[in-house]
Amino acid sequence: MSDRATDFDVLIVGAGISGIGMAAHMTAKSPNRSYAILERRENLGGTWDLFRYPGIRSDSDMHTLGFDFEPWKHEKSIADGPAILDYLEKIADERGIRKHIRFGHKVIAADWRGADARWHVTVEGEDGERKHLTANWLYLGSGYYDYDEPYDPGFDFGEFEGQVIHPQFWPEDLDYTGKQVVVIGSGATAVTIVPSMADKAAKVTMLQRTPTWMFSRPAKDALANFLRKVLPEETAYRITRWKNIKMQDFSFKMARNKPQKVKDGLHKRIRKSMGKDYDLTPFTPPYDPWDQRLCLVPDDDLFEALKSGKADVVTGHIKAFEKGGVRLQDDTFLPADIVVTATGLKLAVAGKIDLSLEGEKVDLADHFYYKGCMFSNVPNLAVVFGYLNASWTLRADINSDYICRVLNEMDAVGVDVAVPVLPENHDLEEDDIFDFSSGYIQRGKAIMPKNAVGYPWRLNQEYVQDRKRMREEPIDDGILAFRRKGANSKSPDETLEAAE
Ligand SMILES: Cc1cc2nc3c(=O)[nH]c(=O)nc-3n(C[C@H](O)[C@H](O)[C@H](O)COP(=O)(O)OP(=O)(O)OC[C@H]3O[C@@H](n4cnc5c(N)ncnc54)[C@H](O)[C@@H]3O)c2cc1C
Repeated sequence: MSDRATDFDVLIVGAGISGIGMAAHMTAKSPNRSYAILERRENLGGTWDLFRYPGIRSDSDMHTLGFDFEPWKHEKSIADGPAILDYLEKIADERGIRKHIRFGHKVIAADWRGADARWHVTVEGEDGERKHLTANWLYLGSGYYDYDEPYDPGFDFGEFEGQVIHPQFWPEDLDYTGKQVVVIGSGATAVTIVPSMADKAAKVTMLQRTPTWMFSRPAKDALANFLRKVLPEETAYRITRWKNIKMQDFSFKMARNKPQKVKDGLHKRIRKSMGKDYDLTPFTPPYDPWDQRLCLVPDDDLFEALKSGKADVVTGHIKAFEKGGVRLQDDTFLPADIVVTATGLKLAVAGKIDLSLEGEKVDLADHFYYKGCMFSNVPNLAVVFGYLNASWTLRADINSDYICRVLNEMDAVGVDVAVPVLPENHDLEEDDIFDFSSGYIQRGKAIMPKNAVGYPWRLNQEYVQDRKRMREEPIDDGILAFRRKGANSKSPDETLEAAE
């Protein structure tokens, strides 16, 4: 690929798990198609490069957060950020993907033009200079949150004289030795940071408004490590991956069908760590397990920190930030030199790219998902939005595989355009896109694409079923219409007629 090339078959946005994954799938399955990855940052890895807070790690096992094509070979199944980054770097280097990445390229806008069947993409370089690239397909691996700003809960830090830090922008040189730290939040980030900072800090207090369901498991998967000793790496990986997919599916369904049983099990496990008389109030949320993602406590690290007295969990509402700490509404005062606002992410759709069709703005919130991957009446565009009840990469893999199948089918029949056609007079019944009560999910719903009750017009949350459908069902399903360039993509009814 010449560095001056401006036209590609596929432009992938984002060099995180989803973008690197698509590039690897294309290399293996659609090798004749040219592609480039446009990445706004200077490094690959996305989430795993951006987040630098102490202890940064996965909360899924790497046998499912890893790709289907590349075994996870580390001893720890719950991996830290640098190990995940290494894994991605290695894939990019071994498969020749790195030379296709254009770092410092932020995609601002993309306009679909039917006449040449191309997305006309506006890209901003770090110097602010704008460039124009075109591609037949746009594949968005741009993640799900805003890289520029985290969620702002509107705290007024008033008199507070200490440091305020958001985990998304962790200062490289932060020295918290001997400091009093208050971490606001009770999600995966807070639960990672609290035990990690407890070693050096004088005291770390996790201040939660609402408790979260926690489950504890070893960071090392004993079965996975045993299988790796006695079987070829790939076979061992496949078995562990399948075991974890099944276990995940089982525990999600169990939580939905028998919540009390799951609550009792989770509490029993916490009592095993904290002692039989431990007051479970800080770990008793007002909702059922898997109404929000469960929070992983690997190797009991949070519980060990609590037992050591170096960490604490306090449930309460903030009244004010005072000079030396945080005052709660019940008048409790938490001294703080550092406040970490682990209050969550701000959801963003399609990398905040201004999408348009023939110059007319496209708001994906007006379009239905098609197979959790494309959108009604939007040609040659795919995205990755991972599972909420399973690892992100499971969806990244099946979406990439599916789009490679679509690309190959397009080559085979000699067409330039693939569009999931939904007539204007459709009678689709809408469904809640996320059946989860987590804050960031609820806050972001308004900007998410539409979800129907019936497949394929939805972002399904059932990996095993989705995998079978995406891999085995015919591409030509009577909905995904194929066209040659030149036809106007604006009217779905026209497109439908053309496809018939
Ligand atoms: C702290 C943290 C821990 C997580 N742990 C897990 C976990 O254990 N299991 C799990 O399943 N999920 C987890 N997630 C979700 C996680 O984000 C995904 O697993 C996965 O890393 C997403 O990969 P991605 O490539 O789709 O997106 P990202 O990792 O967000 O990468 C997106 C890339 O796109 C680039 N980009 C965005 N917009 C543009 C644009 N307009 N132009 C150019 N480039 C752009 C970004 O710079 C970035 O490099 C976690 C998320 C966070 C924040």
